[in-house]
Amino acid sequence: MPASKEEKLRWLEAEAEDCKLCRLNEGRGNVVFGVGPANAKIMLLAEAPGRMEDKTGVPFAGAAGKFLNKLLLEAGLKREETYITNVVMSRPPNNRKPLPDEIGFCRPFLKGKISIIKPELVVSLGATASEELLGRRVVLGSEHGTLQDCEYAGVKFKLFVSYHPAAALYGGQTRLKLQEDFKKLGKLAEKI
Ligand code: SF4
Repeated sequence: MPASKEEKLRWLEAEAEDCKLCRLNEGRGNVVFGVGPANAKIMLLAEAPGRMEDKTGVPFAGAAGKFLNKLLLEAGLKREETYITNVVMSRPPNNRKPLPDEIGFCRPFLKGKISIIKPELVVSLGATASEELLGRRVVLGSEHGTLQDCEYAGVKFKLFVSYHPAAALYGGQTRLKLQEDFKKLGKLAEKI
């Protein structure tokens, strides 16, 4: 009998558990693999684990996670029905942006997750996630809230580009834009 999506995801997670492929393993607490059902239709992809994520091993476990939960709720989406992960799975020191070689070392894991889950819709939260999936530079100011065709790891899906919730924690325009994006996302998700 062929392996199920759950099994394949578990095997990949076991492979990632003690990964030392790049320098980010040196200061990390936990590898933050990802969380959610293996058959999720919607995947949320952000940049990298932060302090709380590193501590708990769960993506979006801190303040940005609380805001993400609020956004999902307002969009009529259930967090537990989505698969949530990051471009790199180990926390960069002082929350700096992951470097291109670190993203490269972690890429096979992201490709693995996408090729197993085969999401219909991916929401990229921030420029790093959007650029990784689209393979080009992304200016969030002009592309947030857009739905694009995307192919990554041989899987075709719709990509919805938005900001990272952490960028909106202190109010201001980004918060309003994120809220507007998620309202739009809720309507789009009704169709899948
Ligand atoms: S960021 Fe990815 S490639 Fe680098 S050590 Fe962590 S799990 Fe391995």
